[in-house]
Amino acid sequence: MSQVGTLYIVSAPSGAGKSSLIKALLADKRNQPSQVSISHTTRDPRPGEVNGEHYHFVSVDEFKKLIEENAFFEWAEVFDNYYGTSRVTIEESLAQGIDVMLDIDWQGARQVRDVMPNAKGIFILPPSREELEARLNKRGQDSAEIIAKRMQEAQSEMSHYDEYDYLIVNDDFDTATQEFSAIVQALRSEQEKQAIKHSKTIKALLKV
Ligand code: GDP
Ligand code: ADP
Ligand code: 5GP
Repeated sequence: MSQVGTLYIVSAPSGAGKSSLIKALLADKRNQPSQVSISHTTRDPRPGEVNGEHYHFVSVDEFKKLIEENAFFEWAEVFDNYYGTSRVTIEESLAQGIDVMLDIDWQGARQVRDVMPNAKGIFILPPSREELEARLNKRGQDSAEIIAKRMQEAQSEMSHYDEYDYLIVNDDFDTATQEFSAIVQALRSEQEKQAIKHSKTIKALLKV
């Protein structure tokens, strides 16, 4: 068996800090090799968002065509827009031993767990409702109407926290990043993965 990466499902109510935490995790070379999966979405790009970097921005018709072509590993309708994870890149990366982070909602998480029961789920909570609203406002990239809608949806998203393996409360950013890294590092030390990575060493050590 070749070395296999871990698939992470990272969910949180919008504004809890998923994107920031994933970015900080990937920036630390101790957590390499790892990457975030770039989803397809039908929502409009926010100011500064780049097609192919933050999302693949597509029309509703294009998205529906991709569904028919079975191009998605999972897809869901979130906040009246379609979001989906494409199949190819994930499978290739995992086979190469790269850890892959999926920043997806709870509906997509359920679909991924059905197909890949080994995927590890991490749920990120904000320290309070007030702070969540403050962060959505601070990000300053969504209209007041969209922020109100996301706050309304937050409770429903958060009610799924107990479907995940790990829980991080993103109060102090550095502490939360540390907790996230600790999960990734611990999972890399699982016996089966280490045995594959260090097979030569183990063979040499056990040679009679
Ligand atoms: P995006 O990741 O480019 O979509 O932008 P974000 O709004 O998620 O984050 C902007 C930058 O701020 C990123 O480089 C984050 O790592 C960083 N950042 C976000 N929140 C905090 C925080 O609470 N403390 C610190 N030190 N950096 C933060
Ligand atoms: P999400 O991807 O979950 O929607 P973001 O990563 O975009 O959330 O974070 C929303 C906003 O909150 C951003 O402006 C980000 O800089 C800020 N933020 C994230 N984590 C923290 C934190 N621990 N303390 C303060 N602000 C934070
Ligand atoms: P945003 O518009 O703030 O980037 O994302 C809104 C919500 O859609 C978040 O809860 C995010 O996790 C979810 N989301 C983003 N990409 C995907 C995806 O590919 N699949 C699913 N199921 N949800 C996604």
